[in-house]
Amino acid sequence: TGSGVAPQRLVLNKLRKIYASRGRESFEAVKSIDLEIAPGELIALLGPSGCGKTTTLRMIAGLETVTSGEILIGERSVGDLPPGKRNVGVGFESYALYPPLTVRENLAYGLRARKVADADARVDEIAKRLDMTELLDQRPAGLSSGQKQRVALARALIRKPPVLLLDEPLGHLDASARQRVRRELKLLQREFGYTTIVVTHDQLEALSLADRMAVMDAGVIQQFGTPDEVFDDPANRFVAEFVGEPAINMFAGEVVRADGGLAVRVGDGVLETAAVDARLGDTVMVGLRPQDTQVLGDDATGGLGGAVINFEDLLEFGQASVRVRGVEQPLLVQTPPEVDWRPGDTVRFGARPDRVHLFDSRSGERIR
Ligand code: ATP
Repeated sequence: TGSGVAPQRLVLNKLRKIYASRGRESFEAVKSIDLEIAPGELIALLGPSGCGKTTTLRMIAGLETVTSGEILIGERSVGDLPPGKRNVGVGFESYALYPPLTVRENLAYGLRARKVADADARVDEIAKRLDMTELLDQRPAGLSSGQKQRVALARALIRKPPVLLLDEPLGHLDASARQRVRRELKLLQREFGYTTIVVTHDQLEALSLADRMAVMDAGVIQQFGTPDEVFDDPANRFVAEFVGEPAINMFAGEVVRADGGLAVRVGDGVLETAAVDARLGDTVMVGLRPQDTQVLGDDATGGLGGAVINFEDLLEFGQASVRVRGVEQPLLVQTPPEVDWRPGDTVRFGARPDRVHLFDSRSGERIR
């Protein structure tokens, strides 16, 4: 059904939203966001509940007023345009399908209004791609939430808008449908060149879909980068702890050497790091991903030593919780397949210096 639209960049300049007081204090849900999304790029917007993700999408779509700042699509400032004039496709949680119409009619509706000639062919194609042909003659009331979600996604995609905003588009699908629809969504997005923001709680979804990820907390973009950058080079403690499954180990350490890369002492162990910007004697927070740990031999001098509390053999790797002296909570260590630890074993592990992240114990900012 033809190629895509001309991809357009999407730029947010100091975008801000204060919800006016309802008898009480007003609330700043989005605090001066800057974001530049390249034409045809897909970004995932990730963050805890209430951090301002939906508010941001709604402002871009024109469904929520902007307190200040600017939204550009291509070179055009769209902040004053009504939703229908922005050329933005939305697939939001609230499905808003017209109950009296069949799914086919729901999908074709917007196209007919725009006098798209091949509306029926487009409906058939998108339905096939999203594996929902059998839904076309049904009415919304009879659909499951996962089916409704696929229809809502199809409706957003079918107009081939230059900018596409999706809020948890796959949240109601079961695991296998989710994987299939996710793959198809990515293919369609590449093919048609929609510049896309996907809000998601699902990190795997973000990793598999996104060219870049924007991690948001408390109305602020904490980091914007490729999944690898965000995972391996977190900007601050929040990002380090929010991204990654299982979660990063985070514990206090003391800087004991500060010539070249810093070394930190944790209990009676020492970790070498690539960071330089702290002083001897400083207490810092150390972030170490379970996947980045390296098992050391008994005779090793560096690294951390501890006692195994629990060990799980997950076939491709093992996962141990290890009690380390000087650390309150057990640390999670990922081990290679040949390692077989038992509870009570005394073990040692370390990590490559560039995989040991340090954070300021007050501000949470990354120490470089
Ligand atoms: P979730 O992942 O739970 O959907 P979110 O990141 O999308 O969360 P938003 O829905 O954007 O977050 O909400 C951000 C903050 O703004 C929340 O604290 C919310 O309570 C508040 N908020 C949202 N809408 C309004 C409103 N109409 N009036 C006042 N406060 C609001």
